[in-house]
Amino acid sequence: MHPQVKQARKAVYKGWWPLLDKYIPMMLELDPDCEIMCKEKFGLLRLRPYNIRNGRSWMDFNNIQEEAEKESATICEVCGAPGRLRMDGCWRSTLCDHCAVMDRTERIRMADSDSVQELETLVSDILCLRKGYPMKKQEFNSRIQPLCRKHKEMFGYIPDIHNYVCTPEEFVVALARSVIEQREIGVFLKEGSK
Ligand SMILES: [Zn+2]
Repeated sequence: MHPQVKQARKAVYKGWWPLLDKYIPMMLELDPDCEIMCKEKFGLLRLRPYNIRNGRSWMDFNNIQEEAEKESATICEVCGAPGRLRMDGCWRSTLCDHCAVMDRTERIRMADSDSVQELETLVSDILCLRKGYPMKKQEFNSRIQPLCRKHKEMFGYIPDIHNYVCTPEEFVVALARSVIEQREIGVFLKEGSK
């Protein structure tokens, strides 16, 4: 399996893996050196090429991106059965009738994905909560702990918010991005104490 397909699989449920197998090689055919970012956004599959070279431009990838997105709206992201885009609370997901009646936690367990979607849920929970009431520093710290732990697993240290010029919200988002995209948090934040 191409390393980029392997990487992309970490970002979406298994139901969409055949789409990755189909569309990522098409993109790599246009430019074997580009990097492909994969995620679920608003219930659809997003594939975006980065660092495009070899005389190609964004425009060349447009058709493939749109095709992938359109097809993802017809395939249950969890199990791969025919599905459609649905509203799921404040979430949009493309699901089949069967997966649509499971609750979110059950689905995550079934999809056997401890990765991106769960982290994104965690982040949106933290941000939602912060909006409702000012969270105490201690609670904030304990809520971001799973993200810190992942960052440490990958890069060997727990990032400290005081080393960056950012708000707590920006810190959470950057921390999640760094874990999801597997790049150190410093890539996403400006260093220097507040
Ligand atoms: Zn399903």
